[in-house]
Amino acid sequence: MNIGVLVKPVPDPEQYNTITIDPQTKRLNREGVPSIVNPADKCAIEEALRLKEKFGGKVVVFGMAPPDGREKLLECLAMGADEAVLVSDRAFGGADTLATSYTLVKALEKKAAEGGSFDLILAGNESADGATGHVPAQVGEQIGYNHLSGIVKIESGSESEPSTLTVFQKYENGKNEFTIKLPAVIGVSRDINKPRYTSAMGVIKAKKKPFDIYDTINLEHDKERIGLAGSPTKAGAIFSPDTRRKSEELSGSPEEIAEELVKRIKATGAVIVSGGGCHER
Ligand SMILES: Cc1cc2nc3c(=O)[nH]c(=O)nc-3n(C[C@H](O)[C@H](O)[C@H](O)COP(=O)(O)OP(=O)(O)OC[C@H]3O[C@@H](n4cnc5c(N)ncnc54)[C@H](O)[C@@H]3O)c2cc1C
Repeated sequence: MNIGVLVKPVPDPEQYNTITIDPQTKRLNREGVPSIVNPADKCAIEEALRLKEKFGGKVVVFGMAPPDGREKLLECLAMGADEAVLVSDRAFGGADTLATSYTLVKALEKKAAEGGSFDLILAGNESADGATGHVPAQVGEQIGYNHLSGIVKIESGSESEPSTLTVFQKYENGKNEFTIKLPAVIGVSRDINKPRYTSAMGVIKAKKKPFDIYDTINLEHDKERIGLAGSPTKAGAIFSPDTRRKSEELSGSPEEIAEELVKRIKATGAVIVSGGGCHER
C-alpha cells in the first residue's frame, strides 16, 4: 500500500506568546518560533505505519513549510516513514487553504509520477494553528479521490491489497460507519491512536532516507494558484480585541447598593422579574 501523509509544522503552542502578526502583510511572524509536528498529523503517520506493517508498501510524508520545516519532516522519518518531501518556496507563502491544497496536490502528483500513485492519503483532521479542517477535503476534490474527515477508526479487513476501508467517524454522541473505496483521502482525529515514540536508531536512520525538496523550479504549477496569488481568502483587519472591563465600586448600605444596581440594570433595558431572573423587554 502506497501511503502519502500530509504533515504541517505548526508553531509550538508553548510558544504562542512569542508569535507576532506583521501589521503590513497580516501574516504570522513565525521567524524564530519553534515549531512542532501538528499533533493530529503524528496520528496520521502512526495509522499509515500500522497499515504498512499489515500490507507492506511505503509511507511518504509531505509538508509545505519554510526551510526550517525540514527538521519536522526528519522527525517523521525517525518515526518510521520511508521518504519525505518538503514543499518549500517563498512563492508558496501566505497561502490560504485552497492554495495550500493545490500545492500539496501538485507535490503528490509529482511524487506519484516518480514512484507510483498513492492508494491512500492520510492527513490530520485539523491543524493546531489555522484549524480550518479544509485541507483533507480540498486535496480529495482536487486530486479526484474519495475523501472523509473526522475519522476515529480505520478497519482494513483481511484482503492482501484492500480496495476499500471501513472507517468510523465520530459525531456528538454517536459514530458513523462508512466503507470508502480507495484511492481516498482520510482526515484522522487525534482520538484514532497514540503515536509511537521515535527511537534513537530511528533518528539515525532518518538522515539516510530519501528527502526531496520541491520548489517553484522543479514543481509544475500554475503561478496564479499558489501562495497569496492563489488565495481567495484574504486576512481582513487584524486587531487585538479590547478585553478590559470597566469596574466601579458602589458605596452605601447593602440596600442602597442593591437599589443602585437595580437602577443601573434597568437603565440597560433589561426587565427585572420576581424570582431574580432578567429578560429583555
Ligand atoms: C490563525 C490562522 C487562521 C487562518 N484562517 C484561515 C481561513 O479562515 N481560511 C483559509 O483559507 N486559510 C486560513 N489560514 C491559513 C491556513 O492556515 C493555511 O492555508 C494552512 O496551510 C492550511 O490551513 P489549516 O492550517 O487550516 O489546515 P487544516 O485544514 O486545519 O489542516 C488539516 C490537515 O491538512 C494537512 N495540512 C494543512 N496544511 C498543511 C501544510 N502546509 N503542509 C502539509 N499538510 C498540511 C495536515 O495533515 C493537517 O492536519 C489561517 C491561518 C492561521 C494561522
